[in-house]
Amino acid sequence: MKAEIIAVGTELLLGQILNTNAQFLAQSCADLGVSVYFQTVVGDNMSRLTEALQTAKSRADLIICTGGLGPTQDDLTKDALAAFLGRQIIMHQPSMDAIESMFSTRGIHMVESNRRQALMLEDSDPLINDAGLAVGIALTQDQTHYVLLPGPPKEMKPMFERYAAPWISAKMNHVHPLYSRMLKFAGIGESSLEHELLDLIEAQTDPSIAPYAKEGEVAIRLTTRAASVEEANLKLDPVELEIRSRLGQFVYASEDVTLEQEIVRILSARKQLLAAAESCTGGLFSNMLTSVPGSSAVYRGGIICYSNMLKHKLLNVPMNVLEGPGAPGAISGETAKLLAEQMLVQADSDYAVAITGVAGPDSSEGKPVGLVYVGIARKQGETVVEQLQLTGNRDSIKWRAAKSALYKLWK
Ligand code: ATP
Ligand code: MG
Repeated sequence: MKAEIIAVGTELLLGQILNTNAQFLAQSCADLGVSVYFQTVVGDNMSRLTEALQTAKSRADLIICTGGLGPTQDDLTKDALAAFLGRQIIMHQPSMDAIESMFSTRGIHMVESNRRQALMLEDSDPLINDAGLAVGIALTQDQTHYVLLPGPPKEMKPMFERYAAPWISAKMNHVHPLYSRMLKFAGIGESSLEHELLDLIEAQTDPSIAPYAKEGEVAIRLTTRAASVEEANLKLDPVELEIRSRLGQFVYASEDVTLEQEIVRILSARKQLLAAAESCTGGLFSNMLTSVPGSSAVYRGGIICYSNMLKHKLLNVPMNVLEGPGAPGAISGETAKLLAEQMLVQADSDYAVAITGVAGPDSSEGKPVGLVYVGIARKQGETVVEQLQLTGNRDSIKWRAAKSALYKLWK
């Protein structure tokens, strides 16, 4: 099913409010397995609204409008749709009763225009407004489905979830439920990931392959409809296998978990301990780990050795490594290595991570913004140090540095 979302409201066009309804509806459609092909924004204007409906009808099976169901003269969506489809406007008596009783219990005089909020179209299904007055409408004509929702998000969302979504699902005639699987990636950006899978993504039909990127993590969701888990697995397994054959080295989970959750899980299973010495991330790495319930079993803690003084005093990095002519400096592979190894000793852990770098906005020690060294010391085995050149502003560099350290650890 192909859908188009039409957000109605001059305030949207003027940039006075953000079109959060479109975002909500787009996500909700994706969850229902409906593909949104277009999103339109149109002002409170009868002829342009009609034009938008006309265009949407030519390219969508489902048209979802939000906004303009209120009582005032600029609320035109129902009138526009009625004229467009050649349908009579009728009263939805239960909504009218609810409006009247609301006004009488509050002891306010009801003006005539409030009656407009109880109007619907002949042969349409009412969508009940549990959080406001205007009734929504769902109907089908010439194989196109129309759903009209109010503008205020606090009314629109419950109406969609409780009444519109089941109505849409029923129209989709789906006999089978949706099954989806999430593959989580680390150490690869969204664009490289998409590049590697472009042919699969473009040719996708069933299962659908949707890449997601949020807060520096990249994921792919595979979705299919099937009669049973076994049947779903038969469809999902080959696609997952193909993706893994190309990018398996970056896949850290096949469910929706964060990298830090995965690290805690692995270390717990192995009964191993971790500690961290953080300079440029200022405790962010520790924060990520300690956000995971159960991390106390594996995370010893860390030292935020932001200054050279503390790198020296608490973690014994020699001053002549940190500063002075010809010294490698605080932002160096040598310092990362020494910090990690000292942290390992002091925490008596199995692994210790050290992160030192330039978060910006200014360079430091004559080194460029985004240059970061991650050291990982281990009880069994050599210390490894990796040099990274990260991009972004101060916050995202810190974030990426901490996530990269988690990734190196996972690898
Ligand atoms: P009302 O009964 O409040 O008039 P309505 O259904 O007529 O509701 P609009 O008049 O279009 O809806 O919008 C009412 C308010 O709802 C707007 O002022 C705005 O705060 C919010 N709103 C409308 N459309 C959107 C949208 N697309 N995204 C986010 N908020 C919206
Ligand atoms: Mg309005």
